[in-house]
Amino acid sequence: MKGTLLYGPRDVRFEDRPDPHLLEPTDAIIRMSATCVCGSDLWPYRGDDLSDQPIPMGHEYCGIVEEIGRDVQHLRPGQFVVGSFFASDNTCPICNDGYQSRCVDARPIGAEGAQAPYLRVPLADGTLVATPEVPSDALLPSLLATSDVLGTGWFAADAANVKPGKTVVVVGDGAVGLLGVLSAKQMGAEQIIMMSRHEARQQLALKFGATAIVTERGDEGVARIKEMTGGLGAHSVIEAVGTQESMMQAIRSTRPGGHVGYVGVSHGVALPGLEVFFSGVHLHGGPAPVRRYLPHLIDLVLKEKINPGLVFDQTLPLDQVAEGYRAMDERRAIKTLLRP
Ligand SMILES: [Zn+2]
Repeated sequence: MKGTLLYGPRDVRFEDRPDPHLLEPTDAIIRMSATCVCGSDLWPYRGDDLSDQPIPMGHEYCGIVEEIGRDVQHLRPGQFVVGSFFASDNTCPICNDGYQSRCVDARPIGAEGAQAPYLRVPLADGTLVATPEVPSDALLPSLLATSDVLGTGWFAADAANVKPGKTVVVVGDGAVGLLGVLSAKQMGAEQIIMMSRHEARQQLALKFGATAIVTERGDEGVARIKEMTGGLGAHSVIEAVGTQESMMQAIRSTRPGGHVGYVGVSHGVALPGLEVFFSGVHLHGGPAPVRRYLPHLIDLVLKEKINPGLVFDQTLPLDQVAEGYRAMDERRAIKTLLRP
């Protein structure tokens, strides 16, 4: 088959790769229905975290089970499945506590490379969630979104302790931040403030349930949030970028006793201990345990109660994956869906 490899900064190629095979009896092979480019793929694309070898890319996926290992009990070929970016056994103590992305046996799907027509999924029983029937094509973008961006936005809102009647701020207007807005709305937040200076993203945030947009950033942004919350700051803040500036903007926008849910992959963030100490703010985040939320999120999509697939504003054939990266890097696209 052909698959996506990153050779170096801004050098994505779609080229021959070995067909995936069952390597362990708990594996499944799936035929990709749709995959996509993640905001976090842009870190290595822009030259961060690169190795000197070409690396397979892609960790968001949904598709049809082609083949299962002999120990897989809960799946059968022909089922439509969605999984998360970490494979997990879903049986260990950490999984039982709902932190499947930190499973004692977690395996990164990115190492397999989901931007490809076929994918090996380790620990298939624990990782994959099957739908009752094969869904229509129209639902594919939203089902694909549950695999990472929606699951991550949902975790961020949950980690930020979003509750009915609360005020929520979202730092980061990428797909995860936008779906953090959708999640906060679903969880009953009263006021949802999106920090964004990008017109198309502002519009989508409003569609997902944002009640206000703040265009200022850094200290000015924090001052605006304070002004809008009686000088106190928000109850719940979602951080979906991962830089020093965005993390401090999130912490400083939160009232004492409030919660920050941070899901932007941390790059060069160093927290000032004394400021964090006196902030009195709860900090919780990390790689979202998407598997915890998948059954609920898939159900919401199948019942058409939410439409997270709206974050995909570009669809390309999989072999044009390099253009998908370019469009997202240049912020011409919010998120690119790829069809084999
Ligand atoms: Zn586990």
